Amino acid sequence: MLQQTTVKTVENKILEIINIFPSFNSFKNKKLEQLLKVWSGLGYYNRAVNLFKAVKIINDKFNGVLPDNRDSLISLPGVGTYTSSAILAIGHNQKAFPIDVNVKRLVERISGTEFKDKEVESILSMACKSKISYRSLAESMMDFSSIICKKNNPDCDKCKFSNFCKSAFQKFENNQNTKKINKKIDFYILDSSLHICFIKKPKFQFYKNFIHLPSNLDDEFISNIKLRKKEKIKSFKFVITNNLFQVNVYKLNQKKLKIANTVWIEKIKTKELALPTLFKKILN
Ligand code: SF4
Repeated sequence: MLQQTTVKTVENKILEIINIFPSFNSFKNKKLEQLLKVWSGLGYYNRAVNLFKAVKIINDKFNGVLPDNRDSLISLPGVGTYTSSAILAIGHNQKAFPIDVNVKRLVERISGTEFKDKEVESILSMACKSKISYRSLAESMMDFSSIICKKNNPDCDKCKFSNFCKSAFQKFENNQNTKKINKKIDFYILDSSLHICFIKKPKFQFYKNFIHLPSNLDDEFISNIKLRKKEKIKSFKFVITNNLFQVNVYKLNQKKLKIANTVWIEKIKTKELALPTLFKKILN
């Protein structure tokens, strides 16, 4: 999530989500749209959809209790090896090792060897022969590797491992290979004075769980609209994963047309809609 937004935003959002969904039980009388609405701004909306589905299964099949074994956890939507390890270690304090890129990098730097995730897990498992707090280990490795043994410019002078780390005080500088792909997209605000048009099956490949403002990609839909009088009202850059979009926004007065897969929503109600940040930015 931190690729999409800042730590502060994630922190505030998590508190907001917990406030509305404080327990598995609290999901029972809620709709997915309510979760998507409060999730808005975090990106990775499939995670919200999977969370909603997973909690339903936890409530229906596991009596509202988070499973404490890997097989049951992996049966939940969106839960794979990493998440199940994180739940077992952090949630249940069991012997499990969530290996993310940061933790892998830390082990690789100390040993001076490249490993696969499974090998890192085996090394940690062998190193933890006596019972320890697996919760603390998982959390501290995540924190240490992201705060001290950072990807770029690690703080070796603050590091307790620097005496024996095979990579201590080496230069790890900004990797410029993470270049964004430049793309351009036009979105249209079709305004019937009281309503705005949204489409249900957009061709824009992101935010599949939301209704969209129409874009130039929706050629079939756009063919029904006379775009001659469109007025450009906004232009900005917007990053989604590794794409840098040049977003152009056009407004067009348009009477309400009945076209398949469209929905006209009262302008006043668009503020209440569950919409991704991109569309909120376009409409505000
Ligand atoms: S000494 Fe430097 S490279 Fe090695 S683990 Fe510590 S921070 Fe990372």
